[in-house]
Amino acid sequence: MFEFNVAGLLKELTGATRSYVIDEPLGDVDPELVAVEPVQGVVKFTRTHDGILVEGKLASVFEVACIRCLETFHLPLTIEIEEEFHPSIDLRTGASLPVLPGEEETTISPQHILDLTEVIRQLFLLAFPAMPTCTQKCQGICPLCGQNRNVRPCTCANHIVDSRWAALAELLNR
Ligand SMILES: [Zn+2]
Ligand SMILES: [Zn+2]
Repeated sequence: MFEFNVAGLLKELTGATRSYVIDEPLGDVDPELVAVEPVQGVVKFTRTHDGILVEGKLASVFEVACIRCLETFHLPLTIEIEEEFHPSIDLRTGASLPVLPGEEETTISPQHILDLTEVIRQLFLLAFPAMPTCTQKCQGICPLCGQNRNVRPCTCANHIVDSRWAALAELLNR
């Protein structure tokens, strides 16, 4: 999916580059990421001394539930990739190279496949707002009557009395 064979680029000199246009569905890489549009953008691979530097900007649109009104809405997100990938075998000798802990997702496979899936997944998760709201003005659901106040205002607000005055209001209502 977001896999690239970099055997050719690894054989080139430091500074050599390749660019790829990405237009791929994200698929079900994460239950929290429900993409309704393909992941689109351009990534540039640059041969570095140690491996391949991946830079790029990717965007997609996700289906998210608003924390106030609980309705789903479409949230566009953009991520910027800047990650260096390292080969897992020496290209000339074929010997295995050590993979450092925590660098598994930025390791090029022995078949020279550079897989961006995990990096893309993590960056989109990071880009997600902690408390997504459908609009800044979302009125949310009324805690008293359950009405979605974006659809139709309810009249509960008129009856809500500050708790400090509740006792007094009760007296007056008698
Ligand atoms: Zn909302
Ligand atoms: Zn209400």
